[in-house]
Order: sequence, then structure tokens, then C-alpha cells
Amino acid sequence: MRDITNKFGSQKMWTLSDGAKLSEKETKGVISAYIACTACLSVYTDMLSYISKYPYGENKDINFTSHLNELTDIAIVLSCQVTDLSIYNDISVMQEIHEKYPDITVYCGGCLAQRFDIPLPEYVRRMDVERAENTPLTEDAFTKIDYRKPFWNKDLPDDADDLEDGNLFRHMYPLKIGAGCHGGCKYCTIRDTRGPSYALDATSQVQEFLEHDDVVIVCDAPSVKQIKDWCAIAEEHNKAISFRNVEPPVANMCHDALISLAKKGLLKIFHCPVQTMNEDLLKAMNRDAKATFEYINNTRKDLRELGVKVATNIIIDYVYEGISYENPSDAQMKELWDYYVWNPYFDGKFNGQKAKDRFEHYIQ
Ligand code: SF4
Repeated sequence: MRDITNKFGSQKMWTLSDGAKLSEKETKGVISAYIACTACLSVYTDMLSYISKYPYGENKDINFTSHLNELTDIAIVLSCQVTDLSIYNDISVMQEIHEKYPDITVYCGGCLAQRFDIPLPEYVRRMDVERAENTPLTEDAFTKIDYRKPFWNKDLPDDADDLEDGNLFRHMYPLKIGAGCHGGCKYCTIRDTRGPSYALDATSQVQEFLEHDDVVIVCDAPSVKQIKDWCAIAEEHNKAISFRNVEPPVANMCHDALISLAKKGLLKIFHCPVQTMNEDLLKAMNRDAKATFEYINNTRKDLRELGVKVATNIIIDYVYEGISYENPSDAQMKELWDYYVWNPYFDGKFNGQKAKDRFEHYIQ
């Protein structure tokens, strides 16, 4: 187990390298571990990297599987805490597993596990972030995780277009170049939930990039240097690339490198979360309003004119100091973006009943 301290407190957390002890059946030897992922691509890719490096766990005593059945010893739910809707969904998945197979030990991994302020069902254990840095993902690893459909579009077809709601980047090769974010956005807690930060030098991953089709660069908050380096590598090798989670100030500082790539038809999808298009609200969120509008009016526009698909996230129903901010209309969003998803504002205080009501309001 590991001692973890973050802004939500201190706890001992289980690790995957605790191996067969995880099941409390220490004499069993090899255990069967079902993994479900209800989190985003960053967390999913962390676990893919771990399984790619340790296909049977660090002690060679775990059989990972994407199939849950009566032979399963433990179930790990890789979770998200971006809103109370996602938390409600994570906990519902844990409950379903427990109700169907009460003897299975259920672990909560991913971001919700690090929210020590949010109680989990008594049968759930918290598991710390597991990842293997700079590890190419094996085909086998993808078969070992039950990557759940997005809870807001559970009927998403497997062969849906990249730009179908909830499908962005799902079927691309996620090349993981780092983790963690040190930004100061008021509503965000991922600097406390994603485990230790790291950033890889692009030169160490060129081979991995070249060996896989349809690559998306994955990071919680890639730096200017990382984006410029990957633009240069894609251009040098004449190979298309996509980017995810590039903050507006970073995107603007990489404008010329991105445009150069786009002019050669090598920039496929560019995701930059603007979160809102309201100047006062950007300030209330402690985000860079000037850079956001520069991105929307210049960088985004220039990329789109060159055929790049541009994607974003926004937060809706934001309330700050008693003021409810108006949401942009679908028409406004569609005019600016090829793809967008929204999250309803979450004040960070989880209340199960309120989350259930809000889930029904927003999703069902
Ligand atoms: S909280 Fe953020 S980083 Fe964590 S799984 Fe959710 S979206 Fe991903």
C-alpha cells in the first residue's frame, strides 16, 4: 500500500503491485482482475501502459480481463470525478458489480479514488494511480479493459464516426506524453487526483509514433515545447497527428507550428478546452480570457479553414457568487466547433441524492 497525501487528506491506498493480496486470498496465487474504465482517455491510457509493461502484474500473479464473471476475484473501476454526474455513474458501476457478485472485491481507481472527501460504498477500496511511463501500448492491453461507453451516450455504436457524441479519440492510438496539470482553474481538481506529474521528451517516443496509425497525443496539459516538438516530428515524417487537451494559451503560442502542419494536411483533430465563451465567466474561472478569445478568433479559425477538425469542452449552468451565467446555444457552438461536449457546473461538494437528481435532469 502507499501513503498518499493530497489536498483532500491522507490515506493508505492499495496498489496493483500488492498483487494477489488484493483479493485477500493470498494462497490463491494468480487472481483474475476485471477492469472497467468510466474515466477519460488519460486515465484509460495510464492503465493500458501498466498492462502493456506488466501483462500479468509486477508479481506475475494477475490475469487482467475485460469480462466480469463468477471466476473474477477483483474488479477495478477506473473512475472520473470531473462532475457529480460522472461520480454518480462511477459509483453506480461499482454498485452493479457488487450486487451481481457480492464476493468480488471492488476497487476504485482513477481520479475519484483520490477524492478522500467523497465517501465510497463500504465494500470499495481505493487504489492509487498506476501507470508505466514511456511504454508503447500492446494490442493485448486494449483487450483487457472494459472501456465503457460514455454515460451520456450509452448507445454509441462501435463503428461511429470520430465526431459522434462521446466518441472523440476513442478509437485512435493514444500516445501518452505526460500527466498532471499545474493550472489554477477554480473548478478543477485534477492537479490533486492524477498522481505524480511527468512530461516526456518527444525524441524518446518517435518510434512509437511511427509504428501506430491514427495517433492522438494524450496529456492532461501538454506544454508549448511538447506541442511544437510533436508538430515538427509529424511534419518530418509526413504523418498525420491529433492533439487533445491543449489549453488556449499553449495553442496560440504554437500557432505557426500548427498551421504549418495543417497546411500539409497532417493535423487531423485539434482539441482545445475553452470551457466558456463568456469573458466575465472566464475571469471567474481564473482562466486566461484574452488567450481564449485569441484562440477562438484566430488560431481555431485558421486551423478550421485549413480543414482541421476543431473540438472543445464547455461548462454549462455555471454559478459564481450568486450569478447564473447564460449558456451558449447549440447553434453558436455548432458554428464554431466540429465537436463539443459540455459538463454541468459542479461545485465540488458531492451529495448522492443531488447527484442522482441532476443525473436524471441532464442525462435521462
Ligand atoms: S477527473 Fe479529469 S482527468 Fe480525471 S478521469 Fe475525469 S476527466 Fe479525466
